[in-house]
Amino acid sequence: MKRRIRNVVTAPWFRLAGTYLAIIMLMSIGFSVVFYRTSWNELGRQIPTHADYDHDIGLDFGLATDNAASPTDPSGNVRQFLQTRAQEGRAELLQRLIVLNGLALVLGSALSYYLARRTLRPIEAAMEAQSQFVSDASHELRTPLTALQATNDVALRDPKLTLTKAKSVIQANTEEAVKLQALSNALLNLARQDNSKLALADVSLQAVVSQALTRVVQPAQSKDISIEDRTPDIKLRAEPHALEQILVILLDNAIKYSPAGSTVYLEGRRRGKYGYVSVRDEGAGIRASDLPHIFRRFYRADTSRTDGAAHGYGLGLSIAHKLVERLGGGISVQSEPGKGSTFIVRLPAA
Ligand code: ADP
Repeated sequence: MKRRIRNVVTAPWFRLAGTYLAIIMLMSIGFSVVFYRTSWNELGRQIPTHADYDHDIGLDFGLATDNAASPTDPSGNVRQFLQTRAQEGRAELLQRLIVLNGLALVLGSALSYYLARRTLRPIEAAMEAQSQFVSDASHELRTPLTALQATNDVALRDPKLTLTKAKSVIQANTEEAVKLQALSNALLNLARQDNSKLALADVSLQAVVSQALTRVVQPAQSKDISIEDRTPDIKLRAEPHALEQILVILLDNAIKYSPAGSTVYLEGRRRGKYGYVSVRDEGAGIRASDLPHIFRRFYRADTSRTDGAAHGYGLGLSIAHKLVERLGGGISVQSEPGKGSTFIVRLPAA
């Protein structure tokens, strides 16, 4: 119980709500004090002093207002009556202000709680996403590291380790190191993506496409996949490096998840205010149940249908998605398992 109370008291929402409530109460009490003091003086002003009394009464009786000659209030009854009324008025006012501040405390607490929760919600979500990212990333890093360590341990404990065997272990280690490097690059890339908009310029789609193609020639050739570039000469509002990176990710996936000897098509068109670029493949396709998740970080659809080389970390599409968002566009996918997939990028036209 004690720990529970301590947890609540130290919780960020509690402290924030406390600050909000302190501000509300400070304002409410401040106003009450000023109001009470002003009203206190006002009520006091209604009681005539001896001089006022003598003057007014003198006038009432049609007498000279000379203090020395004027009659006084012999019993002091009127003055006393006014004084009592003023005192009662002040007491009532004080009572009302206390009730009002009590109400402000109750309503202010509820409002502060609501506001604190509302303020913290996006921050909590961002922190949760951040810690999820760190735990996913460390999990992804641990797997190849464990494999590396295991291969080395086995090789070191082998008294009959031959040169050929040692070379194959080094070869396996190098492959793992390359994968780790790719993973850390992707992680860094993703971590650098914030929500800020990129600086846009008029970009020739064909120029960016040819840059992207030079970066995927090697994997395409190694699988005997031909890439048919049918992009028209349209201009887009984009950041060329970001657009190139998006296209490389989509082309790379199209090659990775397509059978050897197939074709990947790059197409484009302009419609209204937008330009569209699509990457279509004749590969494995994506199941309908996986489609809503493929842009999530670390999400990998079941790749058992694809060849064993199609390994990835599930980061490419989330990077592409983030980049497209930063360019003020959108990305969508249509896919049919066994037939192929089409990824369509929509960007503002120049
Ligand atoms: P990965 O590194 O695993 O390729 P991505 O984020 O690029 O990560 O893709 C997420 C998942 O979406 C992949 O694991 C794969 O299952 C699926 N995918 C992406 N592109 C294609 C494609 N062109 N054809 C079939 N499946 C794809």
